[in-house]
Amino acid sequence: MGDSTNIKVGPLDSMLEHNGAYGPYGGAYIPPVLEGQLKKLADFFDEEVKTDDFKNEFIRILKQYVGRPSPLYYAKNLSDYVGSKIYLKREDLNHTGSHKINNCIGQILLAKKMGAKEIIAETGAGQHGVATATASAILGIPCKVFMGEIDVERQALNVRRMRLLGAEVIPTNLGSRTLKDAVDAALGYYIQNPESFYLLGSHVGPHPYPRMVGYFQSVIGNEARQQILAEEGKLPKHIFAAVGGGSNAIGLFSGFLADDEVEIHGAEGGGEGIYPNTAATLSFGKPAVFQGTMSYCLVDDEGNPIPSKSIAAGLDYPGISPQHAHMKDSGRAKYYPVTDAEAVEAYKLLSRLEGITPAIESSHAVALAMKVLKNKGELAIVNVSGRGDKDVEREM
Ligand SMILES: *Cc1c(COP(=O)(O)O)cnc(C)c1O
Repeated sequence: MGDSTNIKVGPLDSMLEHNGAYGPYGGAYIPPVLEGQLKKLADFFDEEVKTDDFKNEFIRILKQYVGRPSPLYYAKNLSDYVGSKIYLKREDLNHTGSHKINNCIGQILLAKKMGAKEIIAETGAGQHGVATATASAILGIPCKVFMGEIDVERQALNVRRMRLLGAEVIPTNLGSRTLKDAVDAALGYYIQNPESFYLLGSHVGPHPYPRMVGYFQSVIGNEARQQILAEEGKLPKHIFAAVGGGSNAIGLFSGFLADDEVEIHGAEGGGEGIYPNTAATLSFGKPAVFQGTMSYCLVDDEGNPIPSKSIAAGLDYPGISPQHAHMKDSGRAKYYPVTDAEAVEAYKLLSRLEGITPAIESSHAVALAMKVLKNKGELAIVNVSGRGDKDVEREM
């Protein structure tokens, strides 16, 4: 018997006030040369995603290609071990192994409707690059992925995968030759080539990116809400997700934001658990403008961004979504640093208890859930944002 859950995206309005403002956060802090491009993108997005044509096509691909709806799995062994009733939202079962594909499909569909000639993206560990190359292949549009030279060497397998999928991988030798420099290279290219479409992979950057990414990832929370109601006849008391830039988390959380009784918990990449050896932006950062948006950021004494540190490449980012920043300040959600060691323990534990090896990123959410739910006997959902095959080779 199939899962009768409806794949549903949006609504748009519940997720945003105006022009990319989430309270004092968000907005678009960009060079004037990009203002026209992003304004056009914001307007086009708002019009296009309302059409049945767009929605139907997006949902068809999510269903037939990505494999949605992803299951909501009652993890009985983990539940018994922790002493609460825990369901896992299985984004790890999506094609390409994480939630990132949801957003890539959405943005590339939009790019094609806009008449874009090619997709450009940057990637650090290669996860977003692979998802972008995959979605570009299925939707038939050329794709360039910018990557720091050091990352190209470190992530040889993902580079081969992207090339196999037909993407052009462009190594950059700017600066430290890692993710930040790949962003600069991609932005430089975007300014020179306005007919290209810049595909951002997380809930960050200038307006309209957080709005778009949050919208496309809202399928996660919309499904999970229907699924838990169908299984349990009630809402969960707690929901959990790992927070890097914040896209899988906002995807799950947006389905429950209006339900005041649902407690929302975000697990940040705590690294060693002390500043500055951490990627826990909301726990250890300050409000600042970083990469086009006003949000929290890990900064030094002078207020300049510092490199983050986390065992999980996907969480290793000194910035954060402006909506999560706002939710932290308003108290609607709570954010906690989860250390590398705690994440590794959860990674091993879930593998042994449930036969599910979560991505080391997702393991942060599992670790946090285990702590908060210990002997509570309460109902909860944990987002397993991705699968951990990519992490197995590493000694942990
Ligand atoms: C990229 C990634 C993350 C972090 O990104 P968000 O935008 O915060 O979701 C988390 N989990 C997995 C598996 C990832 O690949």
